[in-house]
Amino acid sequence: PVTDPEAEAGDRIIEIRAAPLEDGALAILRDVTEERRMQHVKAEFIANASHELKTPLTALSGYLEMLEDEEDEQVRAEFLSDMRSQTERLQNLARTLLDLSRLDANAVTFRTEEVDLEELLYGLRRDFGYTGRPLNIRVQEDVPLVETDPIQLHRTLAILVDNALKYSEEGAPVDLSLSRKDGRAVISVADRGCGIPEVEIPHIFDRFYRAQGSSRADGTGLGLALAHEITDHLGGEIRVRSRPNDGSTFSVFLPLTSGPPYTNGSRPPESR
Ligand code: ADP
Repeated sequence: PVTDPEAEAGDRIIEIRAAPLEDGALAILRDVTEERRMQHVKAEFIANASHELKTPLTALSGYLEMLEDEEDEQVRAEFLSDMRSQTERLQNLARTLLDLSRLDANAVTFRTEEVDLEELLYGLRRDFGYTGRPLNIRVQEDVPLVETDPIQLHRTLAILVDNALKYSEEGAPVDLSLSRKDGRAVISVADRGCGIPEVEIPHIFDRFYRAQGSSRADGTGLGLALAHEITDHLGGEIRVRSRPNDGSTFSVFLPLTSGPPYTNGSRPPESR
């Protein structure tokens, strides 16, 4: 009789099911190591996500309580401004969590089209114009159009630019560049910020991972995980080069398709 439905065999977990037959017994052994690992990762993800959601919610309810008793207009205005930033944080977090879980469930439809990457970079610069930070763009002229999903690629690059701005000094420039290497288009986002210690680099794409010292900037450790997963779905790759106090360069590599003969930058610059 099977008393233990699961057994460990070395580093594997084996599920055991058995039933008596007329002239013996039938036993089915199934390796469920991967399944169990996924369950563990999911449970951990939910626990971390709940914790991250709770932090701004607790802050918001605290502010609400204080607002009720506060009569000084200036203090009330400060509370409201803090509440606005906590709400923004909550909105960003909810959006990222939703995007990640939809990717996990294969519920995201990728709509690919021919994309002018140079145009995408200029669009990105416009989107971050409100920060007032200088974003320099450098483009190698012979990069053809790329068959990809422009919305998802934009999401990935926006995460990288957001980080580049966040982890460098106020006023420091960020360089965006587009080039072509070994049959792939390469978009790089380079900052002159705090950099990442070598031992931490292998972990920064993990969900909820934040490198030491990054607590000075607001974040949840989910951005790079999302950027990495989207890039995977686009058939691309993200690489990082970074040294502490010497800035970081994140590069997205995308496969080139044999597109039409015209290239990025074929539009007149005055239309940008
Ligand atoms: P976060 O919300 O913390 O920014 P991310 O997933 O986007 O989360 O990044 C994970 C960690 O990687 C960050 O907490 C930070 O330690 C490090 N990191 C990411 N981008 C940069 C960068 N441009 N410069 C320095 N550190 C970075």
